[in-house]
Amino acid sequence: MNIGQKVLKELEKEISVNEYRRYIQRLEYDTELSRSDIAIFRAPNIFTAKWVETKYSKSIAHLFELENGIKPKVEITASKRKEGSLLSHKNMQKESKSGKSTHLNPSFTFDSFVVGSSNQFAYTTARSVAEKPGIQYNPLFIYGGVGLGKTHLLQAIGNYRTQFGDTVIYTTLEQFMNKFISSLQSRTMDRFRDTFRHCDLLLIDDIQFLSRKEQTQEELFHTFNELHSLNRQIVLTSDRAPKKIAGLVDRLRSRFEMGLTADIQPPELETKIAIIQKKCELDGIRLDRDIINFIATHMGDNIREIEGTIIKLNAMSTMLNQEITPEFAKNAVRDQLKEKQENITIDDIVGIVARELNVKPSDIKSKKRNKNVVNARRIVIYLARNLTPNSMPQIALYFGMKDHTAVSKNMKKINEIVENDENFKVLLEELSNKVGSSHRKSDI
Ligand code: ADP
Ligand code: MG
Repeated sequence: MNIGQKVLKELEKEISVNEYRRYIQRLEYDTELSRSDIAIFRAPNIFTAKWVETKYSKSIAHLFELENGIKPKVEITASKRKEGSLLSHKNMQKESKSGKSTHLNPSFTFDSFVVGSSNQFAYTTARSVAEKPGIQYNPLFIYGGVGLGKTHLLQAIGNYRTQFGDTVIYTTLEQFMNKFISSLQSRTMDRFRDTFRHCDLLLIDDIQFLSRKEQTQEELFHTFNELHSLNRQIVLTSDRAPKKIAGLVDRLRSRFEMGLTADIQPPELETKIAIIQKKCELDGIRLDRDIINFIATHMGDNIREIEGTIIKLNAMSTMLNQEITPEFAKNAVRDQLKEKQENITIDDIVGIVARELNVKPSDIKSKKRNKNVVNARRIVIYLARNLTPNSMPQIALYFGMKDHTAVSKNMKKINEIVENDENFKVLLEELSNKVGSSHRKSDI
C-alpha cells in the first residue's frame, strides 16, 4: 500500500460511510507526480475533485504529516489517465527526470484548450513559444479578463516544456513577491536569485500586481535581464496591457513590450459552447445541447464561472438523483443568474437590440408597426422577460401597452418562431449573449 492509500484508509475512519464510498474510495494517489511536499490524487470527475479538495484537503494533509512528518500541499485533479495517455505520461515523466518544475496543474494543456477566434492569437503564440522557447517572442505577454484562460495557457507552456526536461518555474507575481520579501528578511537572497535566474522557463502569472511595488519591480527587472540575455523564455500574464498597469517603471514596461503582446478576448458563443462540451467530455458529465446553449448564453464569459455552474449542476443531479433536464438546469442556475440579472435594464436591451438589428431605439419604444421594428420590439420583450427581473405588467408599462396580455402574446409568438426557425433561435442566443457581456463590461 502506498502512502496515499494509507492516508485515505485513515481518513475513512473519520468520515461517514457514504462520503467515503462516494468520493474518497475512487481517488487514486499519483505516485509518480507526488513528492513529499505535494500529494496529488486523481478523481474520476471534476466534481469529486472539487468536493474532496474543499472538504478534505486539510485533513488529508494532516494525515500525511502524521504518517511521515511532512505536511504536503494536497492537490486533487480530475484529469483522466486513459490507456494511451498513461503511456505517454510515463514517458514524459521519465524524460523530465532531469527537469524540475514548480507545481503545474497537469490538466492545463494545449490539448484541453479550446481555440476560437477570441483566443486564437494567444494560443498560437503560446504554442510557438512552447515549441521554440527563447527564440521568437521573448517575453510573451498574455493579457485578458478574468477566467478567460490565461493561467491555462501559461501552464500549458510549462507542461509542454517539462516533457523536454526543462527547468520550469511557474509563479504568481504575489508568490514571487512574498518569496522575495522573506528572502530579504532571512538574508537568503542568493538562494532566491539562484532559483529565479537559473531556470529555462520563467512563467509569471498575474503580473498586474506589480503595480507600485518598487522593490519587487527592481528585483524582477534584474531577473528579467539575466534570463533574457541567456535567451531563456519568459512568459507573463496580466489582466491588462502593460501600458495600463499603473505604477510600473518605464524600463520594466518597455521590457514587457519588447517581445510579443497577445490578448484574449471574451469567447464568442460558439467557442463557449465548445468549451462547455469539452469540459463535460473531460469530466464525464452528460448535458443536452439545449442545456449547454442555455448555460452558454446566460452565464457570461468567465469560463471559471461556467465550470462552476456545470459542477454545481452535476453535483445537484447526483445528490438529488435526478436527471439534468432543461428545467432542472434552469432552476439550478437560477440563483447565479438572478445575481447577474439584477443590473440589466430594459433600456440596456433596447440599446443593444437596436444597434445589432439596425433600428432606432426610439422606434422600438414607439408604436410603429413596420416589420423590422415589430421584430426588434418582440425580441426586446422576450429578452427583457428572460434577462431582467421585470414582471409582465412592468414590461407592458415600459412599452405603453394596454396590459400584460400583450406581453404574453408576444412571448407565445416568439416561442413559436423559435421552434420553427433555427436561425432566429441562434440570433436570439447571440443577442442574449451580447446583453449579458455588455452588462458585465460596464461592471468593471
Ligand atoms: P484566467 O487565468 O484568465 O483568469 P484560467 O486560465 O484560470 O483563467 O481559466 C479559468 C478556467 O477556464 C480554467 O479551468 C480553464 O481550464 C478554463 N478555460 C478558459 N479558457 C478555456 C479554453 N479556451 N478552453 C478550455 N478551457 C478553458
Ligand atoms: Mg489566472
